[in-house]
Amino acid sequence: MHVLQAPLQPLNLSWLTKAKVETAILRLDLIDPLISGNKWFKLRHHLQHAHAAGTPGLISLGGNHSNHLHALAAAGKRFGFATAGLLRGHPQDTPTVRDLQALGMEVHWLGYGGYRARHEPSFWEPWQARYPGWHCIPEGGGGAAGAEGCALIVEQARSQLAAQGWSGYDAWWLAAGTGTTLAGLVLAEAGEHPVHGALAVPMDHGVPETVAALAGPKGYRLHDACRGGFGKVDDELLAFIADSERHTGVPLEALYTGKALLALRDQVGAGLFAPGTRLIFVHTGGLQGRRGYL
Ligand SMILES: *Cc1c(COP(=O)(O)O)cnc(C)c1O
Repeated sequence: MHVLQAPLQPLNLSWLTKAKVETAILRLDLIDPLISGNKWFKLRHHLQHAHAAGTPGLISLGGNHSNHLHALAAAGKRFGFATAGLLRGHPQDTPTVRDLQALGMEVHWLGYGGYRARHEPSFWEPWQARYPGWHCIPEGGGGAAGAEGCALIVEQARSQLAAQGWSGYDAWWLAAGTGTTLAGLVLAEAGEHPVHGALAVPMDHGVPETVAALAGPKGYRLHDACRGGFGKVDDELLAFIADSERHTGVPLEALYTGKALLALRDQVGAGLFAPGTRLIFVHTGGLQGRRGYL
């Protein structure tokens, strides 16, 4: 299956320069005109498996702004799979939902109670009966297959270091929601370089447990970046995003990448990284979701 490539670019911001923290940004938002972000890396193994097995289609679940379902629908369109999406809540017309349908995804609304039942053993039975032989992907593309697919993120950054004029790097910084992508980086690094996760959800929402289960106890650090809760957006954050976009030309969204960059600024300001540190910031994509709240 075709491999999508994320470009590595210099990230110039005055607070990074001042602290002598040299930063490059790995643009997962630029891998493809249709498919964006870390969600494609998390889907890779599922797509390869479905391709190898000759599976007729792929089915997964998410919310009505879901970056995961968007990437799945786009990948289905790009690589010739049928897709179905099980959505939380009641029928709603969001830009994301319109895209899902335009990309050919069959959309089913589960209500809230129906969606809550997704972890029950019998949940998939009616869907497997309705879509025989289809491959079911866990919510958000989580789990070991999702994490393993993210090892390619490390490989893609390393293959572009020389072009940056870098002989190496010291650490990673990226947004975490479930922590699956972070765990993939930790596994690929195997202790060589620490991975810093900026949490878009509160610390007690299971991320430490998910990362530990997938990648063990070492090789990473988690930072609170959620600003009061997942999806909470405040004026300081929006002003910071607008300012950063103006200086770098890199578009950010407010749920993950904007919060991750703001948490980085705070930690750089607090002296977490010694002068001379070389950092790779991962832009995890998600720009399609911006239309839902801006
Ligand atoms: C889903 C998502 C994340 C979080 O990824 P996890 O693997 O769940 O930690 C981060 N950034 C963006 C833009 C996302 O869509």
